[in-house]
Amino acid sequence: IDLKADDLREIGELGQGNGGSVKKVEHVPTGKIMAKKIVLIDAKPSVRKQILRELQILYSCHSPYIVSFHGAFVADPNICICMEFADKGSLDGIYKRIGPIDIDIVGKIALAVLEGLTYLYEIHHIIHRDIKPSNILFNSQGQIKICDFGVSGELINSIADTFVGTSTYMSPERIQGAQYTVKSDVWSLGISLIELALGRFPFSDASSDDSDLSDLEGTLSPHRPSPLNRLSLRKEKAKEKAKKEKRKSKGVSLQGGGMTMSILELLQHIVNEPAPRLTPEGRFPQEAEDFVDSCLIKDPDARPAPKDLLKFAWIEAARTQDIDLEAWASTI
Ligand code: ADP
Ligand code: MG
Repeated sequence: IDLKADDLREIGELGQGNGGSVKKVEHVPTGKIMAKKIVLIDAKPSVRKQILRELQILYSCHSPYIVSFHGAFVADPNICICMEFADKGSLDGIYKRIGPIDIDIVGKIALAVLEGLTYLYEIHHIIHRDIKPSNILFNSQGQIKICDFGVSGELINSIADTFVGTSTYMSPERIQGAQYTVKSDVWSLGISLIELALGRFPFSDASSDDSDLSDLEGTLSPHRPSPLNRLSLRKEKAKEKAKKEKRKSKGVSLQGGGMTMSILELLQHIVNEPAPRLTPEGRFPQEAEDFVDSCLIKDPDARPAPKDLLKFAWIEAARTQDIDLEAWASTI
């Protein structure tokens, strides 16, 4: 279809992210329901055209594990990307509604994400760059699909994103400024799977203190090469130290209902501390623990790639396991 802004009727809001918002729309001429992602963008017309050209590769991405692409256009000053609508939304919304997701279903999710990542990487040489529960979508047919992968270098460069979340799925090597590789996606998958199985972000018994984040806004992006160069890191360290002193003097406990961790502390934690695990020991199948441990090997060279992970026992079991995801979808 040749998508035009005027042909789309807005039905509702699906969510808000870093770089813009996502609306549920109807393509009036065909009656087709779609998700329209509006990306706020600060770029010249020539750059916008380049972005639209780069997005064309999405037309050739066809996989049951990838959200399909309907088209993109410029709607000054934004870029709109229209994609398949997932009527059950994203997995973050699902677990926040229903609590921890059963580990057998998490196995099916792991399988679907690995199939999607393997397809993107082996066929199109695309690295996802932003695996997290909000980019894994679910529909009432029981299908699990990934969305929002980084196909356009120009788009990645010009997204006007500020870092506003309190969670990060960034791998230790990325935090330290290394290039993105498909292994970084594997780390993000490991963190996401623990989050789904436990029903909370794994670093969050070290829960975040949002008030600390405001002045770090804009210094971190999940997409760009790590901007935490040594100078800014030193500055942030000094700031954090001052804040900690202030908290101490105010008698605010760092332990209270869970340790308070600012974004910088979280990043340092990811780099310096052992990776999170599926805990408590023995609650989940050994194969699931082994799988997640492998995703979260801190050395990217030792960490398996998605296509290696497809051969893991837990994933082979998930593949043949008879779980009716369509029936599960009707319960959530
Ligand atoms: P983020 O992924 O960081 O949450 P986005 O702007 O990408 O931010 O998306 C905002 C929300 O919109 C997501 O959390 C998701 O719940 C919802 N969403 C995105 N794409 C779709 C889609 N294709 N179908 C249904 N819901 C979607
Ligand atoms: Mg998203």
